[in-house]
Amino acid sequence: MIRTLIATLSCSLLWFALVAGDDAPETRWWKGNTHTHTLWSDGRAAPEWVAKQYVDGGYDFLVLSDHNTIQAGERWFPVSEDGSSRLSPKELDGLIAEFGAEAVQLRTTETGREMRLLTLPELRQRFEVPGEFLFIQGEEVTSHFRSTGEKPVNYPVHINAVNIEAYIAPRGGDSVSDLLNESLEAIIAHGEESGRPVLAHLNHPNFGWGVTWQDVARMGADRFFEVYNGHRGVRSHGDETHPSTESIWDQALTLRLTALGLGPLFGVATDDAHDYYGGLTSQSGRGWIMVRSASLDGDSLVRAMRAGEFYASSGVTLDDVQMGDGAYRVSIRAQPGETFVTRFVGTRIVDGTVATVGEVLAEQAGLSAVYEPKGDELYIRAVVTSSRLHPNPYAEGDREMAWGQPWVR
Ligand SMILES: [Zn+2]
Ligand SMILES: [Zn+2]
Repeated sequence: MIRTLIATLSCSLLWFALVAGDDAPETRWWKGNTHTHTLWSDGRAAPEWVAKQYVDGGYDFLVLSDHNTIQAGERWFPVSEDGSSRLSPKELDGLIAEFGAEAVQLRTTETGREMRLLTLPELRQRFEVPGEFLFIQGEEVTSHFRSTGEKPVNYPVHINAVNIEAYIAPRGGDSVSDLLNESLEAIIAHGEESGRPVLAHLNHPNFGWGVTWQDVARMGADRFFEVYNGHRGVRSHGDETHPSTESIWDQALTLRLTALGLGPLFGVATDDAHDYYGGLTSQSGRGWIMVRSASLDGDSLVRAMRAGEFYASSGVTLDDVQMGDGAYRVSIRAQPGETFVTRFVGTRIVDGTVATVGEVLAEQAGLSAVYEPKGDELYIRAVVTSSRLHPNPYAEGDREMAWGQPWVR
């Protein structure tokens, strides 16, 4: 009787603990890349070959973001016997060796052999494993603003739409800023219509010097941009007359949080990979994001990013990033032989006006860094730099880094 009572009581307590306990689901970090190209646009590999690079690279999720297309419908790609297309017989043989002859569909036309490109549903079937690897549907919504005058200039405006349901057409506009905001609005409207959380990030603002920091500041419908893009053609470090993407972030944040009254701007790191057979211009594995979420699905990951629950990386792993309770805290994963420096960066408001934009507020060495705001900071963000040189860098001399999101108190 007593035993039964104890057993019943234990069960009740267990039940109570399960029901009344901390019901917030346990979260973890997921590694992903939101910007990659395939043969569906100007990438230099079949989508399954691209996917394999990321599966083998330990990624949890991947967005294939081809220019103005999604991976849908029947599409045949020419196999060049003479190197005139982006699919050579050698690469075709590689696909057959990797996936088997039955997995590669070929036909011969009057102009030669063609291979059918796998669609996203087919790729999902081949690679997705629940809780281990996920594709999120995406597109690089690609357009440019053409100036008028004697020597018109094309200003590229590329935006990645993430977790979309269908193709989104690029928009036009009367200026770079107008075109950028029209496209962002179209992407967000798509999310509202399809009833799913979507996300839009502005890509490589310095590519073709297309998008200025003022344009970045004026992004209205969404608030993500690439602070790091691994493609060597995108001028991320700026030049004598153009700010780096890091500096764009600080200038845009400052204007948004003062005169414009817009919210914070979040930074992502991506590969923008096009080359998968040794070309150095753009490769997989240079930059990625880590998203903190309870589960590996597109909706959860996008919601987490919208809440700022992610960081950008080009090699540094963070065990934790916390903002709140009076401090910005960063914990860095130890790596043999490496040392780390964390810089807390922000803009202070002194006597009602903006002091130095993007000032280094504090610099700390070691595996953990803490910054307690003094009260005059408009925002605070954290940048961690490793002593280790990036093994496959965007630019020679780049060190591995991680970027925490801005904290606006
Ligand atoms: Zn682009
Ligand atoms: Zn791209």
